[in-house]
Amino acid sequence: MPTPTPTPTPNTTSSSRKVAVIGAGAAGLVAARELRREGHQVVVFERNNRVGGTWVYDSRTESDPLGRDPSRSVVHTSLYDSLRTNLPRESMGFRDYPFVVIKEEGKERDPRRFPGHREVCCYLSDFAHHFGIVGLIRFETEVLRVRLNQETKKWVVGSRRIGGGGVGEVVEFDAVVVCNGHYSEPRLADFPGIDLWPRKQIHSHNYRVPDPFQDQVVVLVGSSASAEDISKEVSWVAKEVHISSRSSNSMTPVKQPGYDNMWLHSRIERTDEDGRVVFQDGSSVYADVILHCTGYKYHFPFLEANNIVTVDDNCVGPLYQHVLPPALAPSLSFIGLIWRVIPFPLLELQSKWVAGVLSGRIPLPSQEEMMSSVCALYARLKDAGVPKHYTHHIGDYQFEYSDWLAAQCGFPAMEKWRKQMYEASEINRTARPGTYRDKWDDEHWNLQA
Ligand code: FAD
Repeated sequence: MPTPTPTPTPNTTSSSRKVAVIGAGAAGLVAARELRREGHQVVVFERNNRVGGTWVYDSRTESDPLGRDPSRSVVHTSLYDSLRTNLPRESMGFRDYPFVVIKEEGKERDPRRFPGHREVCCYLSDFAHHFGIVGLIRFETEVLRVRLNQETKKWVVGSRRIGGGGVGEVVEFDAVVVCNGHYSEPRLADFPGIDLWPRKQIHSHNYRVPDPFQDQVVVLVGSSASAEDISKEVSWVAKEVHISSRSSNSMTPVKQPGYDNMWLHSRIERTDEDGRVVFQDGSSVYADVILHCTGYKYHFPFLEANNIVTVDDNCVGPLYQHVLPPALAPSLSFIGLIWRVIPFPLLELQSKWVAGVLSGRIPLPSQEEMMSSVCALYARLKDAGVPKHYTHHIGDYQFEYSDWLAAQCGFPAMEKWRKQMYEASEINRTARPGTYRDKWDDEHWNLQA
């Protein structure tokens, strides 16, 4: 086990706020810890019956495989059974609670450097117990409504117990920290003809195991890390796998090295009512199924923010530093919207910042200054031709961003070894897409970690 860090006794002062945290995944857990360390009174709402969020594997899938039906019963996680992390565990862990290999008598743990999802879930559960967070969580309690009471200037949080007859409760808080994750609501690509395409379609949110694709001709859309994993796994059982990637400009299908039943194509041009899928490279296939690995949408069905915060083409805004809506800061905040990053240490820094800002220890610029910072970001992205739905993709400047947050909090910048390990593992993943989880050459950074 990592060396225990004493949990400071919450010290409630006049700067202490009553804070609701929505979600007990990695973001909600570390937010709760930081808020409590700062002396705030914290209640965490979690609709599942355990901590871990996306890392709680669930073999169930949703009734609507494309996730379009708003009345469907939601399965939160998008993990597939075989999933292993795409980052080395040393780089993934929180700053003061390293993700080390644990040997526990009678309990099976996964010592691999890129472990399976169950190990990450165990790590988050260990974290929650170690820092005494579990007692702050209301499990099986779903937040249904969050709105600002204009008179009291408090946030009204309406929730319902999932078990026990669905008893509802409404409580007021000084602040709300939204940590509900953003990998549950499928985002679908749109192609001419797709609504009339007669065969099966599924989003990767509802992919668990390859078995249903036995002997099928599969068109898989996307090129993310999950798309890469899933295409390989499906190719073991499927008749053919045709990957459509918008980053492929080849004018002919490219047979994938090491596979005799997998091809890379350009974008889909259209789909036909007879089951044909036509690619921009001029080729076409009669497919049995289209598997959309096309990402997710930000979704805050509980939030009534009077259009002060909106989601427009998957840009949540306006948000100062991807966290605080200027007009409602700091009483409303969003942790974990950023992507293509090392998530846990960034969630930790965002949480420290929000906790310190809420107590007044860390100053914020004026509302106008925050707003002009957001406008400047939007203008920069527009000038660079970055689509709106990439607003929270901060891969190119994640370390600048994390160092800025650390400086605000008076906390040391992210360790050099972690940054270097991340860069090295990205290079390794590109060079060895099939084996990067088991072969690497960044041992020197690993030793420093
Ligand atoms: P989540 O983990 O999604 O937690 C949100 C929580 O909020 C859930 O527990 C949910 O039940 C709860 N909730 C939602 N709505 C409500 C409500 N209305 N009321 C009450 N509770 C609610 N990261 C890595 O570091 N390494 C990896 O290798 C990696 N691989 C990934 C692979 C996949 C397929 C996916 C989808 C993600 C991966 N990630 C990886 C990113 C991962 O999402 C983050 O690491 C992190 O777990 C995000 O945590 P979160 O708390 O923001 O969201």
